[in-house]
Amino acid sequence: MSDRLDAGSNLAPHVVRLDDGLQTVVDRFWRDAGEVDEADVLPASHLEALGRLGLYGALAPRSQGGLGLTPHDLTSVVERLASGSLGSTFVWIQHFRLLRSLLDPATPATLRAWLPDVVTGTLKGGIALVGLMPGPPRLMATRIAGGWRLDGAAPWVSGWGLINLLLVTARGPHDTTVSLILDAAPHPGLTVDRARLSAMNASATVHLRFDGVTVDGGRLVSAVPVEGRPEEADLRSNGSLALGVVRRCCLLLGPTPLDQALRHCREQLDTAGVDNMPAARAAASALAVQAAHALAVARGSRAALVGDPAERLTREAAILLVFGSRPGIKRTLQQHFAPDGSAASADTPSFRA
Ligand SMILES: Cc1cc2nc3c(=O)[nH]c(=O)nc-3n(C[C@H](O)[C@H](O)[C@H](O)COP(=O)(O)OP(=O)(O)OC[C@H]3O[C@@H](n4cnc5c(N)ncnc54)[C@H](O)[C@@H]3O)c2cc1C
Repeated sequence: MSDRLDAGSNLAPHVVRLDDGLQTVVDRFWRDAGEVDEADVLPASHLEALGRLGLYGALAPRSQGGLGLTPHDLTSVVERLASGSLGSTFVWIQHFRLLRSLLDPATPATLRAWLPDVVTGTLKGGIALVGLMPGPPRLMATRIAGGWRLDGAAPWVSGWGLINLLLVTARGPHDTTVSLILDAAPHPGLTVDRARLSAMNASATVHLRFDGVTVDGGRLVSAVPVEGRPEEADLRSNGSLALGVVRRCCLLLGPTPLDQALRHCREQLDTAGVDNMPAARAAASALAVQAAHALAVARGSRAALVGDPAERLTREAAILLVFGSRPGIKRTLQQHFAPDGSAASADTPSFRA
C-alpha cells in the first residue's frame, strides 16, 4: 500500500493483501463522488463493496472472521477510502463502536451473538454518543420494569436508513453512562428529523427525539460511571477523514509541498498521546481546508462551479472542522484561524438553530 503519499507504510502482510480490492473501491468511490454529493442517500452498493472486502469486521480478530487490522492499519484504510468518498467512509466508520462493544467479553452473550453478522456487515451499526457529552444530560435512561426508558434527544446520528443497529449512550441513574443497542427503525416515542448538510448530505444524518422510548433490558451493553469512561479510540481515526481530503487534493494537484505536510500531519496523529491528540486533530482539519483551497486556486475559475472537485472538497473540509470535535480541538482551531493567534474560550457556545 505504499505510494507517493505513504499511507500504509509498515503494514502487516495480510493488510497489504487488501490493497488491490481497496484501490478498486477507492477508484469507484472517486468516480461516483459527484453523483453521491448530490444524492439524498449513499448508494447501498458502496457499503456492500466495503462489506465484500471484509471491512465491516476490520478490527475483529481473524479467529472471529474479521480482518484483524490494528487501529493503526485501520487509519491508513480510512484515509485511502476517505480520499474517494468522505460520506461513505464516514458512515462506515460509525460501525466500529458497535463492533468494539460486541467484541468486549463483558458485553452480555445474547448481544454478542450478533457478532458474526456485525463482522460481515450484514448488520450495520451507527452511534448516538450524546450520553458522553459533558454538561447537563441531553438524553436520560431511566430504569423501568423489564428494561429502560429513554427521554431527551440525540442531535446527530449518521447513516439513518443505511444502518440496522444503533448504539445509544445516555445518562443513567447514579452518574452512570448507559449504553443500549436499539434497532435503527421506527419506535413509539421516537421522532426522526433529517438534517440537510452542506457536504456529505448522503450520509443521511438525522436528529432523534426520544419521548419515553422503551428498550428491552436485554439490549443493555453496559452501565459505567461517567468518570470512569475510557478514552475514545475514535479520536485518532476521525483524524484520517481529514487526511483523506488532503490526500485527494494532493493527488489532484500532483507533487507539491502539501505531500510532505500530509506525511507530517499523519505522523503527528500517529505519535500523539492523549494530551497532544487535540492539537494533531486540529492540524489535520486545518490542513484539509488549506489543501482544498490550494486546489481551488490551482483550478482557477472552474472551482467556482458547483460540483467541481475543489468546490466539493472545500465543503467537506469545512465539515471536518466541526465533526467529532472536542474542546481542545476547537480551541486550537480558533487559535489557528484568529488573525492574532489568540484563542477564544472553548466554552464558546455552539449554536444549533
Ligand atoms: C455531519 C455530522 C455528523 C455527525 N454524526 C454523528 C453521529 O453519527 N453520531 C454521534 O454521536 N455524533 C455525531 N456527530 C456529532 C459529533 O461527533 C460531535 O458531537 C460534534 O461534532 C461536536 O460538535 P460541537 O462542537 O457543536 O459540540 P456539541 O455536539 O454541542 O457537544 C458539546 C460538547 O461536548 C463535547 N463532546 C461531543 N461529543 C463528545 C464525546 N463523544 N465525548 C466527549 N465529549 C464530547 C464537544 O466537544 C463539546 O465540547 C456528528 C456531527 C456532524 C457535524
